[in-house]
Amino acid sequence: MRRASRRSPKGVGKKSVLSELHKFLFDGMPVRGMIVRLTDSWQEILARRAGNSATGAYPPPVAELLGEMTAAATLMQSNIKFNGALILQIFGDGPVKIAVAEVMPDLSLRATAKVVGELAADARLPDMVNVTNKGRCAITLDPKSRVPGQQPYQGVVPLFGDQYEKLDKLSDVLQHYMLQSEQLDTTLVLAADDKVAAGLLIQRLPVKGEGNLEGTSQRDHDQSNEDQIGLNEDYNRISILASSLTRDELLTLDIDTILRRLFWEEKLLRFEPQAGLLGPHFACTCGRERVANMIRSLGVEEADSILAERGDIEVGCDFCGKQYRFDAVDAAQIFREPGDQLPASSVVQ
Ligand SMILES: [Zn+2]
Repeated sequence: MRRASRRSPKGVGKKSVLSELHKFLFDGMPVRGMIVRLTDSWQEILARRAGNSATGAYPPPVAELLGEMTAAATLMQSNIKFNGALILQIFGDGPVKIAVAEVMPDLSLRATAKVVGELAADARLPDMVNVTNKGRCAITLDPKSRVPGQQPYQGVVPLFGDQYEKLDKLSDVLQHYMLQSEQLDTTLVLAADDKVAAGLLIQRLPVKGEGNLEGTSQRDHDQSNEDQIGLNEDYNRISILASSLTRDELLTLDIDTILRRLFWEEKLLRFEPQAGLLGPHFACTCGRERVANMIRSLGVEEADSILAERGDIEVGCDFCGKQYRFDAVDAAQIFREPGDQLPASSVVQ
């Protein structure tokens, strides 16, 4: 841990290429925070989709939503101690049928969305996923090693507020979820464009003995109430500062500058930033070898008939959109590999 110095000009004017995550505590207060800035990993998600001839690029409002989801999922994964995938999903009742961001404990991440039909260029959250107020947001924690019969944990929240009003911002939906599921006040600021997906999370930590009035005299009780009020004031002040961060600032400023601008009057205890393979990075489980195995399992006849019809075999990854193409020569190679020869005994006759 290192203490941030207000005078340190470190990081100013320096644009980081790698995606990064910074965690920090507010000294002496039950408040923690983290900020994520996805650059290369986010651009890889967009590039794979854009390069897919069947889908084409995401419409900008969908990219924005998916980027915010990916940044939020990264913050949520980093915020819990859980050995498994965190999957943030929106099941929409509008043109965006489903949007998914998945982040593993090592902060490898991927994301996808399914869009059906047209979308206005200025579509907002309700236009995309909550037209009739039936859209839902689900957060799933899927343990890495599940014992037989064990179900992943899933929490589902609607995309409306207390008065059934449609929520306009993903951050509002997730703040609601965090308060419900973890009973912790959380402030989230999210933003994304075609280069950066970023998010800031501020959370009030549970105070020792909070809500536990057992065995306290009236005097102690009063004292603890006063302490509690003071602690809430700290959180409220920091939350208001965090909420003043604009979309533009979050997308264009480097992390050190953002933290200095927002919290220059606070004492921050900062952890070592996480970047590269130790930080948020793109990863998908697809690959050319997997697709080759799939074609192999189709059998040579089926493969030949696809080749005769279309000239090549094209398989796109459902998750990241990357397409793998095999022409007749590639396909022949697949079926020529030793493991695929029929055993000698069966070809004798
Ligand atoms: Zn993939």
